[in-house]
Amino acid sequence: MKRLLLVCGGAIALLFVILITRTLMLGGGSEDYTARTQYDGHNGQEIAQRLGQSIQYETISWGDEREPDAEAFQGFAEFLKNAYPNAHRLLQRETVNDHSLLYRWPGSDSSLKPVGFIAHIDVVPIETGTEDQWTYAPFSGRVEGGAVWGRGALDNKGQIITIMEAVEKLAAENFQPTRDIYLMFGHDEEVGGPNGAAAISDLLKSRGVTFEWTLDEGSGLVSGVIPGVSKPVALIATAEKGSTTLRLTATAPGGHSSTPLPDTAVSLVSRAIVNISDNPHPLKIDKNTVSFIHAIAPELPFMQRMVMANLWLTGPFVKSQLEKDRVTAASLHTTTAPTIINGGTKLNILPQQASAIVNYRIHPRDSVEDVRKRAEQSINDPNITIETIGATEPSPRATTKSEGYRAIAQVTGEIFGPIPTAPFLTLQGTDTKHYTGIANANYRFTPFIYESDDLKRIHGTDEYAKIENLARAAAWYEALIRKSAGTP
Ligand SMILES: [Zn+2]
Repeated sequence: MKRLLLVCGGAIALLFVILITRTLMLGGGSEDYTARTQYDGHNGQEIAQRLGQSIQYETISWGDEREPDAEAFQGFAEFLKNAYPNAHRLLQRETVNDHSLLYRWPGSDSSLKPVGFIAHIDVVPIETGTEDQWTYAPFSGRVEGGAVWGRGALDNKGQIITIMEAVEKLAAENFQPTRDIYLMFGHDEEVGGPNGAAAISDLLKSRGVTFEWTLDEGSGLVSGVIPGVSKPVALIATAEKGSTTLRLTATAPGGHSSTPLPDTAVSLVSRAIVNISDNPHPLKIDKNTVSFIHAIAPELPFMQRMVMANLWLTGPFVKSQLEKDRVTAASLHTTTAPTIINGGTKLNILPQQASAIVNYRIHPRDSVEDVRKRAEQSINDPNITIETIGATEPSPRATTKSEGYRAIAQVTGEIFGPIPTAPFLTLQGTDTKHYTGIANANYRFTPFIYESDDLKRIHGTDEYAKIENLARAAAWYEALIRKSAGTP
């Protein structure tokens, strides 16, 4: 008995040693954080004025039959030319499909693969009926209260403008890149990029261009979003989710509702939806999630850090916590969202047909085919036909070991100071989906600090970009270009 107790006591002591050692190995208790606001050669107020002007061009992707406003897109292109004369002196620019812009800054060493910066010119419309809720008119580009207000300030003109600021500064000093640098500004990202990014990508493919890496929107730095972490966290997206939509259609005999069969088309399609919803794609903590957890853990109080450091023991608990938040839950699996249901015409007629639309966002470990198979198995009903109406496979995962990822992470450390940096998964689609075939790696990261409030404003009311983000982002792009295309 005594021996047994001794063995048990020894095992518990050993467990504690392992838990604590692993926790201490992660480090922690790093110093307080204050973001830098001054950056040589980049003036936040001046950039804000230019961003404000760029917002005044109503470069809207309507999402219906409406054509883009040619004058607005031409005006925007002309504005860039005037605002950034040195960039336009050294870079070649061409217009693709009338409204997209492709720039090439020729490098000195043709043995090096080019790098590409992706952003988009178009913006989403203002939701009808919400125009009056804006503090300042949505296309005024007003600079007020430390921010630039208007549709596109964050998504995505803030990114185009800060990229151009960096290029302009470098061009003004006649910087000579070692490798080609491309800027790819699509004009229809908000509707999937079929005429913009897809056309640019085809054009580059026909010219035999393959990128070392590309960088797009789709992630950034978040602050005050992760509970317990006060510093901004840089989330560099190495992949983006795919999507697919299934239409489920049920057919059943008609007749009067006074003499029904056990099921009508409406009950059949409803059961199909319930079966799909009750069999969600499983949530998993994968390698990327572990890197993310280990990156933020040092910022957490000791007990939480111990939980995060010992996922071998606490994994199921941590997973249950991550599942509670819809954003973190979405990053752990393929999501299922029944969005439309249709059926029946009259209250006393048995419907002969009913249908539903289910939209999926596919995690990189699954495929369009996997989603359909799972739906078929969950529904398992010969009365339901399943049709795939639109599908984009998830992107391949880019490595975190590449020159590109390292450069992005290092520059983030230089510009933002000591903050956690981790790989991430973009939950929505970006223009990058059109460039996966012509790049060794695709990353998504905008060097802006987003607070939870900012995230609501993207595509919503009162979108604005804080001025403190602008000079810092311009400095960040400048540093990244120097690091990846400068003479060492
Ligand atoms: Zn966007």
